[in-house]
Amino acid sequence: MLMNNIINQILSISLWAGVTLIGYSQSTEITVKFIGNCGLYLTDGTIHLYTDFPYKSGAHGYMEFAESELDSIQENALFLFTHKHSDHYSRKSLKKIRKEKNGKAFGPWNSKDLATLSESIPNFTIESFKTKHAFSLNHHSYLITWHGKRIFISGDTEHAETIGSLNTIDWAIVPYWILLDANEKGIDLDAEKFLIYHLASVQAPSAKEKWGDDPKFHPLIDQGEMIKI
Ligand SMILES: [Zn+2]
Repeated sequence: MLMNNIINQILSISLWAGVTLIGYSQSTEITVKFIGNCGLYLTDGTIHLYTDFPYKSGAHGYMEFAESELDSIQENALFLFTHKHSDHYSRKSLKKIRKEKNGKAFGPWNSKDLATLSESIPNFTIESFKTKHAFSLNHHSYLITWHGKRIFISGDTEHAETIGSLNTIDWAIVPYWILLDANEKGIDLDAEKFLIYHLASVQAPSAKEKWGDDPKFHPLIDQGEMIKI
């Protein structure tokens, strides 16, 4: 009787372990880590994608980040930039990281190469859209389709027309002024959920108050926060 119980337990534990292993190896879940400003780390465990990171810590009075964020950047990562303002991009850090850990960087300057990249990775495409941003001649926003999920990366653009032209977005990652602009212009935003980024630290309390309990809108305030998509 006792022996039977033990055998049963061993069987159920190994079955559980097997299921868990299969679960990990076939994961289509995407995790997003908020680093600061528009700096995000997205991964499905295989692809490591950073958006608007590395940037210059504390630039233009926006968020600082710990040095350990640079150290923990993955090998052979993809880096996607919306533009080259220093609160979104650091040439110096990027150069150092790519020297140590390889990786590929994309931005408005080589956005045509995103088509080739998309062809080389299964279940992963990045579409690029030229968008306007004050004091930047070259700014792009992106639509990432990854394991069937549509993720829009707005960046620093002030205008809601581009996101407004897209349908069935799963996750729209936008600054709050895109919501204001859409509202003012009567543009409908077809997104299931919104992550609101590029908040300055002083805006955090009012953002928490406004969206704290809202299931559709989530402000990115706490650096290091992880969200599953
Ligand atoms: Zn900018």
